[in-house]
Amino acid sequence: METLQEQINSLGPFAYWIALFIVVGLFVTVGQGFLKARKIQPNSFQWAIFRHEVFWSITNLVVSAFVLGGLSQFLRTNGWITFDQSPAEWWVILLEYALYFFAFDAYFYWGHRIMHIPGIYELIHKTHHRSMSPNLMTSVSVNPLESFVNGGFVPLFTAMFVVHQETFALIAPTNIIMGVYVHNGYEFLPRWWNKSWITKWFITTTFHDQHHRYFRGNYGGYTTLWDYAMGTVRPNYESGFEAVKKRTAANK
Ligand SMILES: [Zn+2]
Ligand SMILES: [Zn+2]
Repeated sequence: METLQEQINSLGPFAYWIALFIVVGLFVTVGQGFLKARKIQPNSFQWAIFRHEVFWSITNLVVSAFVLGGLSQFLRTNGWITFDQSPAEWWVILLEYALYFFAFDAYFYWGHRIMHIPGIYELIHKTHHRSMSPNLMTSVSVNPLESFVNGGFVPLFTAMFVVHQETFALIAPTNIIMGVYVHNGYEFLPRWWNKSWITKWFITTTFHDQHHRYFRGNYGGYTTLWDYAMGTVRPNYESGFEAVKKRTAANK
């Protein structure tokens, strides 16, 4: 009897291509099902909004990199921003990071609420809300004025508090990671997330996705704390999260 290896060999390199084709096909099929089940708002793609997002993403990235990069450089060369170069214990870094995390969370919540006030809204925040079903690009499809408000926090914070170099290395990518995470359009967190008292205070993609879909409620950027405290959590937030998770469970 021929072994499997011999059978494959007798087919020549052609067999490898077929095997590769089958494996890739399987991955794509499983992957599509995996992603589809987790999509918070299925069938929401629109060309007009896509074009808007491309235009504003590029505009925003160019303008804000220039302005915020210039501002940070200016503050550093003039000694407004300095870092603690001394060695630090891990818990000191953790405390410094926590200070930034909760300070920005409060700043973002209230800044966001202000940007929803009619008159101010049209000037700054409307650009970002054109996307009603967020995708990865939505995180940068923002009016540069809004980027100055939110991105300006890090230079402001580091000018006010001298943190360790290591803390800054953690702070710098946080907004980018959180932005990508809350706008990715898919819910990857486990079902128990909103049931556990420790994790429910951190926002999910569904949380911010609903802010885009319904416009009101769920204003927080890192945590749900301010929304719960101020009564601005959407009444359908937890049920909306459950609904996506149920779809996921059915599609396993
Ligand atoms: Zn908003
Ligand atoms: Zn958003």
